[in-house]
Amino acid sequence: MIKIENLTYVYPSMDDEDGKKALDNLSIDINKGEFVAILGHNGSGKSTLGKLLNAQIFPSSGDIWIDDLNSKEEEKLWDIRKKCSMVFQNPDNQMVATSVEEEVAFGPENLRVENPELRDRVDAALKLVNMTDYKDRNPSNLSGGQKQRVSIAGVVAMLSDYIIFDEPTAMLDPKGRKDVIKLVEELNKKYKKTIIYITHYMEEAVLADRVIVLDKGKKALEGNAREVFSNVTKMKELGLSVPQVTELAYELKEAGINIGDLPLNIEEFLEIL
Ligand code: ADP
Ligand code: MG
Repeated sequence: MIKIENLTYVYPSMDDEDGKKALDNLSIDINKGEFVAILGHNGSGKSTLGKLLNAQIFPSSGDIWIDDLNSKEEEKLWDIRKKCSMVFQNPDNQMVATSVEEEVAFGPENLRVENPELRDRVDAALKLVNMTDYKDRNPSNLSGGQKQRVSIAGVVAMLSDYIIFDEPTAMLDPKGRKDVIKLVEELNKKYKKTIIYITHYMEEAVLADRVIVLDKGKKALEGNAREVFSNVTKMKELGLSVPQVTELAYELKEAGINIGDLPLNIEEFLEIL
């Protein structure tokens, strides 16, 4: 499991600003196999948390435990990054190779995985993300959604148990977004990967087992999607929205119509109507 204990992070350039912290005494436990969505308005600390979990940066104080590894142990850096890998928002920034196949092999090669295992892992990962037919193509010629699927194949080929996604669909069209979120759900349900999913799409957060809302580097709300999104006023105060159907039902409830539990998707809303 992942244990985040009293985690504080201050960027070096923040030292001059009065007491400003990117993350402020944050504690979160994430169980193996869980799908956790992280929400929060711009600057609330989401990406900083992702980078800390992926050991790109290190806690100013507090600890992150990834199973039995502490993220501060420099000699274990690659073990940590392998166990807990990250998919970023902009797929173009993470493409390094000139073919899809090499791109997927890049991570495991850095971990010194050799053939024939390397080949097997790359083939299996490409199959999983449905990109086998593109293996010889140049990643720069793919659509955004396809690039994100190649990035996901890369972390799958590293056999990471924990995968952090930092707004992976933010730059995608609706089709690409749908493909990526479907793949994330499959990685969690079928392949038992633990997912930490940073997003600003409420409709995506609804799919998670647990939703955590950050505000100024602290936990502002936490619970399952229904618990969190029923706090419509609080979510708005935090500069966030709730799924459209939830908001509509909330307005009807405020107007005196007996709705019961607020719906999270269109099917539930139709049922209530
Ligand atoms: P989010 O991903 O939720 O938008 P971030 O984690 O990127 O938020 O940022 C949290 C806080 O840290 C913000 O106040 C932001 O301005 C600051 N910050 C982020 N990156 C840096 C950086 N490289 N140097 C200095 N401050 C940063
Ligand atoms: Mg961010």
